[in-house]
Amino acid sequence: MDERPRKPRFPLPLDRIGARVPAAAAPAATAGLGLDSHAVRVRMVERIRAEGIHCEPVLQALSQVPRHGFVDPGLAAQAYEDTSLPIGHGQTISKPSVVARMLALLFERRPGAQRLGRVLEIGTGCGYQAALLSCLATQVISIERLRPLHDKARDNLAALRQHNLRLVYGDGKLGHAPNAPYDAIVSAAGGEDLPQAWLDQLAVGGRLVAPMHTGAGAAQVLVSVDRDENGWSRRVHEGVRFVPLRSGTA
Ligand code: SAH
Repeated sequence: MDERPRKPRFPLPLDRIGARVPAAAAPAATAGLGLDSHAVRVRMVERIRAEGIHCEPVLQALSQVPRHGFVDPGLAAQAYEDTSLPIGHGQTISKPSVVARMLALLFERRPGAQRLGRVLEIGTGCGYQAALLSCLATQVISIERLRPLHDKARDNLAALRQHNLRLVYGDGKLGHAPNAPYDAIVSAAGGEDLPQAWLDQLAVGGRLVAPMHTGAGAAQVLVSVDRDENGWSRRVHEGVRFVPLRSGTA
């Protein structure tokens, strides 16, 4: 059980955070580290841009969402390094550049668009990517199979008051049929195949981005699947390292 007190990490909704998160928003342990400065996030974004990601809506969202508020205070000093970090329960928050890459792949399917449509996220984790998605999409459904992480994400996200974001506790392998079809589906956990439910719940014109192992024991790669009137087409991208996609809830 997560025994930490349930305390909102940010006092303002995201659209009012603007250039600077007030110092009071930061956990006491991070005060004085300079993490509340917009500048620290802008530096992170410039490094990601230098790596070749130029999707402006994604870079803008990365510069807005305070990643240090989604990790334990003891790790907050590393929040703007391009590194994955533990979030408890054997899970990790992905590197910012990998999150940016996945979100940019979703935008690539909608050239010129400033927003994604309805998005399904599998693997809420600490809620960081869900917060980014809520800035970028009209509606976000995010599913987590581990109850303590679902609860943690709810706490982390509460004060942001993102009304277009819904957190669901459940097995994301089944997708979330009540809100299907989705214009975009993104998974933060990878298995050896893509669940049929994801393919079925992807809208015609939509794109799915997920890590997967291309065979038993094979390395994990990022894949994207586009659905059009004729069916589904898959592309394999670079190698990645995500946590395993598991079945059921816990
Ligand atoms: N996007 C998250 C990353 C979390 S790591 C963040 O920003 O923090 C991946 C998450 O996927 C883990 O929390 C893990 O519990 C979850 N996961 C794995 N299999 C799942 C499944 N079948 N359904 C829902 N969540 C799953």
